Amino acid sequence: MDYICPLCGNNDEKYIGYLNGKPYCRRCISFKGESASNEFYKPTHFYKADFSYSLSEEQEKISLEVLQGYKDRKNTLIYAVCGAGKTELVFKVIEYSLNKGGRVGFSIPRKDVVIELALRLKNTFKNNKVISLYGGHHEDLNGDITVLTTHQLYRFEHYFDLLILDEIDAFPYKDNPTLEALFKRSIKGNYVMMSATPSKRIIDEFNSPNHQILKLFHRYHNNPLPLPKILIGFSFVKLLILFYKLNKFIKENKPVLVFTPTIKESENLYSIL
Ligand SMILES: [Zn+2]
Repeated sequence: MDYICPLCGNNDEKYIGYLNGKPYCRRCISFKGESASNEFYKPTHFYKADFSYSLSEEQEKISLEVLQGYKDRKNTLIYAVCGAGKTELVFKVIEYSLNKGGRVGFSIPRKDVVIELALRLKNTFKNNKVISLYGGHHEDLNGDITVLTTHQLYRFEHYFDLLILDEIDAFPYKDNPTLEALFKRSIKGNYVMMSATPSKRIIDEFNSPNHQILKLFHRYHNNPLPLPKILIGFSFVKLLILFYKLNKFIKENKPVLVFTPTIKESENLYSIL
């Protein structure tokens, strides 16, 4: 039987099951639900983004390169350190795509980030319909900007004129061929991927015609990433160092997070502190 899954393209016998003699894809078993309609819609406003912040010179340069890449029908990989302000780098291209009547998707593996990002996009694109989709939340499937978990991409086929995928190195997207197939299937135009640690495979994929890699290794405030220091010593000495450090940070009015490897150690430390 030559069955190919229409969702993810799987044709591996191991992942094909049969129900009443009909084949189905085991890889896509969790992707059940309503799909977005593909009918054409016209933009009603001129979409002007409300940028309530300023970009650093380097961010400005990269966001223009992302935009130019999109105009040239290229897919872009933004390779940027954590804290570089990756999200802001795509606001210009989003604005451009909306003004061309495009449908924009912004996909992230984690649901909590979807909720947070949708709020942020609502504040930036005030005249637009921004919707969010994640497990257990999918009332509305058509918006100007759809913010969604990578899982929810199965609802869209050949749909997004601009699709942005952030945290490509995070679970569950990383090394998941089904989610990757769903991502590619949902695109109509071009895509922008963002990562702090892209794999060699991803870099190779973007080192090809109609693709570009943009690098940003400085953070917005230009401070380098803090490197952790390791101190090995007796518990008593570690406690003294901790007291000293905590005093210092408290005096400077800085918030502190103390992390311990076990719950028990956390409780002990809590009662001492
Ligand atoms: Zn499938």
